[in-house]
Amino acid sequence: MTEPADTTADVLVVGGGPAGLASAIELARRGRDVVVVDRGDTTDEIAMLFTPRAVAASRRLGVDVLDRADVLDRADVLDRDGAEWFHPIGRVRITAAMADPAHPGGAVGPSTSSAWPRVRVAPDNGGVGTRTGFVARLRALAATLGVRFLDGHDATQPIVERGFVRGACVRGPDGATGEVRATFTVVADGANSHFGRLLGTYREPDWPMALAHTAGHRSPLHLANEVEVVVGVTDRAGTPIAGYGWMFPTGAGTVGIGVMLVSTSPSFAVINPAHLLERFTEQHADRWQLDPDPATPAVGGRIPLGASVGPLAGPTYVIVGDAGGVANPLTGLGIDTALESGIIAGDVVGEALDEGSAAVLQQYPKLIDDRYGSFYKVGRLADRFVGQPPVARRLHAALGARPAFAEGTLRVALQHLRSGRGGVPELVERTARAVATFAPDA
Ligand SMILES: Cc1cc2nc3c(=O)[nH]c(=O)nc-3n(C[C@H](O)[C@H](O)[C@H](O)COP(=O)(O)OP(=O)(O)OC[C@H]3O[C@@H](n4cnc5c(N)ncnc54)[C@H](O)[C@@H]3O)c2cc1C
Repeated sequence: MTEPADTTADVLVVGGGPAGLASAIELARRGRDVVVVDRGDTTDEIAMLFTPRAVAASRRLGVDVLDRADVLDRADVLDRDGAEWFHPIGRVRITAAMADPAHPGGAVGPSTSSAWPRVRVAPDNGGVGTRTGFVARLRALAATLGVRFLDGHDATQPIVERGFVRGACVRGPDGATGEVRATFTVVADGANSHFGRLLGTYREPDWPMALAHTAGHRSPLHLANEVEVVVGVTDRAGTPIAGYGWMFPTGAGTVGIGVMLVSTSPSFAVINPAHLLERFTEQHADRWQLDPDPATPAVGGRIPLGASVGPLAGPTYVIVGDAGGVANPLTGLGIDTALESGIIAGDVVGEALDEGSAAVLQQYPKLIDDRYGSFYKVGRLADRFVGQPPVARRLHAALGARPAFAEGTLRVALQHLRSGRGGVPELVERTARAVATFAPDA
């Protein structure tokens, strides 16, 4: 149901993606009146990987994505339309591409497969689903909790009174304008975050960001229980790129195939991700038995990484999800961190309302820093190292060839570290954090 444009609320949420909805759900549970404004510019049916941490955060909100997996009728998956499927994934295969331009057919090098690294706070399975289907489930929950929606509305600019943000001016699909006034505002408008920029947020231009591009192809291997990550993707000259390619079986007739490249690669500025995806798809189509024509057309976008956007709070607003650049700098994945940051923000804003004190909002950047700060600094430094082709070559070969190394790297990259345990990944991570303490911000 869509609200009339002129309205008031305790909290305005700008952007109804995973981050904004997580905040809205948390706040509604605390009995707060929340309006979510969403212009609906992301209706992608693309296959997305949900890490076990994303599944855990989603469960914490009250949506168990894995329960959908059990109700699927496998016999008619190829005919199923709509996006509300969710395919459980138990394993991750890391494959080293042969960085050899003499093998344009995409011969792959060594490959290792492991279960998701186990961690107490997350389930054993991740999964593949669509953003659309996932967002629909979060929205349904939010609506039952009383969250109001202004769909198809663009939050064009903040309402600022005596230096305090008091909501936003909005424009509907028919061009009609209105105002949503609120005590506090949660900014969750995604990677480009025009609204955030109007409030003065700034992305560190030299810090890593990623470009991702993906499409879906029909394949008889769509029911596989394993995603494949291909490291050692190269540019046309055969130079390795920081980033990776992937194959995500959807369980719904298709396999999502994609590439992600990180800005620390020397060739980042000249690579066209759409062309890179075409080449990557050609190289791996046979192995994954992909239909040549995409069933879901290629789409792409950018992902600001590693807490590269700030400040994350003003006197009466907080910034969550991609708008705050909180995606993982080692994986480029952002659904788990969007949900987690949204939940944290919901708690903080709820407390500020309970206490009648806007000053409480200033705890939010600190909580985000506690959660991600030093890990992300390590991640940003690692992105710089992996951007160097000689380093990348060695790393990629080792990842494909050594299962223990691949499992350890996955554990670190996903932040699936075991607290109080003395394993090699935990030791490496602690050492890296110690080194990062003295390293300059990068
Ligand atoms: C091609 C691609 C593939 C990806 N694959 C994965 C993956 O497999 N796994 C993973 O974990 N992450 C993946 N990511 C990253 C992930 O999509 C994001 O990190 C995540 O969606 C961030 O959630 P969010 O709520 O912060 O922002 P978004 O999901 O971008 O949502 C922002 C919302 O704000 C709305 N909005 C924007 N501006 C306004 C405005 N002015 N007024 C009103 N509404 C507005 C938009 O309509 C949108 O609904 C991928 C990203 C890309 C580009």
